[in-house]
Amino acid sequence: MKVMVVGGGGREHALCWKLKRSPSVKEVICAPGNPGIAREARCVRVAADAVDELVQLACDERPDLVVVGPEAPLVLGLADRLRDEGFAVFGPGSAAARLEGSKSFSKRLMHEAGVPTARFEVHTNADEAEQTVRSWGAPIVVKASGLAAGKGVIVAQTVKEAVHAVRDMLSGNAFGEAGSQVVIEECLFGEEASCLFIVSGDDILPLASSQDHKALLEGDKGPNTGGMGAYSPAPCVTPEVEDTVLETIARPIVAALKKRGAEFIGILYAGVMLTADGPKTLEFNVRFGDPECQPLMTRLQSDLGTVLLAAAEKRLHEVTLAWDERKAVCVVVASRGYPESFAKGQVIGGLDAVEAAGATVFHAGTAMKGEAIVNSGGRVLGVTALGETVSAAQTAVYSALSHLDWPGGVYRRDIGYRAVAREA
Ligand code: AMP
Repeated sequence: MKVMVVGGGGREHALCWKLKRSPSVKEVICAPGNPGIAREARCVRVAADAVDELVQLACDERPDLVVVGPEAPLVLGLADRLRDEGFAVFGPGSAAARLEGSKSFSKRLMHEAGVPTARFEVHTNADEAEQTVRSWGAPIVVKASGLAAGKGVIVAQTVKEAVHAVRDMLSGNAFGEAGSQVVIEECLFGEEASCLFIVSGDDILPLASSQDHKALLEGDKGPNTGGMGAYSPAPCVTPEVEDTVLETIARPIVAALKKRGAEFIGILYAGVMLTADGPKTLEFNVRFGDPECQPLMTRLQSDLGTVLLAAAEKRLHEVTLAWDERKAVCVVVASRGYPESFAKGQVIGGLDAVEAAGATVFHAGTAMKGEAIVNSGGRVLGVTALGETVSAAQTAVYSALSHLDWPGGVYRRDIGYRAVAREA
């Protein structure tokens, strides 16, 4: 079959890489793709959020399946438009994508469905929000309700910091329109995990567990980013935890969406905190995590094309998934200065040597300048390796990374440390 992938980041590189290796897939096209994806797919210069042009592209190319990678086009209704044109699409329509597009909607739906999550209030008025912050005290969590590329969450250690965040968001200074509503949440404590499910109507198929590192600095310190690394599986997700997340979080939220007429086809990503009172939902995403997708695709042994087409055609019950027993660690290489400002156009060398050393290099924020590959975004590469243990995979990935020749590239040296500590 011919598959069209929408997006141009590390997640989409991992999806295209896996689709290219799927026996059922003859051809992969990707819009807009990136220089890494160009090794796996024919890239077409259409932006991932240009809905009209993407629909036109699909009509011209007639793919057998469209896989929508990022959240923005899903929230904008790309999947609905493509389904209206008769395409098989992996990705939810806009009504279901609100689960990610609006944190206030998502929290209210969780409340309605009885899904365990932190206590919360939604505010649009800064004085009222400040009052809540002062009465609950710190630590406390302040979230911009709209899409903010994973950066709209402040886990405030002091009341002062929380009040500042609330005022910054509601004034439109931080995150623009996405911050015009804020969600204030009780702070939860525990280990975090990413539990992803392929959903197709009432059928829900868990993917292998994973854990990402959202914080910029080692030891999970510093500001939140789009994600600095990930690994799979996450040992804290025992079969019992996996079952609890499926039954108390995934099934009820999918049912609550359906009750509102929003049937879900695509990836349901539950970010969960494993608290002393059991797993609680931090957030829902409606697509693969980036970078969690990179270790997951590296470990998946099933034919991805067959699996996603079955989900798109509501035949998911026909599918079982096979996984490589080995562990995978993905380290994100970012431009120095990310998530604030950074210089673009720096030449990145040594990529072949990194791969020759046994890692897979997924491109996220790269571009071509002449014959050279240069950085064009904050998160630039997702370098991924397998090993018999997380510790072995971690050693393999950092050893491969020693061949990277890019002085402006920075990465955390401790991705997977919690799992490594457990193994020790
Ligand atoms: P989110 O985008 O909502 O998942 O938030 C990003 C990150 O902020 C999460 O991965 C957590 O590390 C942290 N976070 C979000 N909500 C809470 C909460 N209620 N308590 C503690 N940490 C949180």
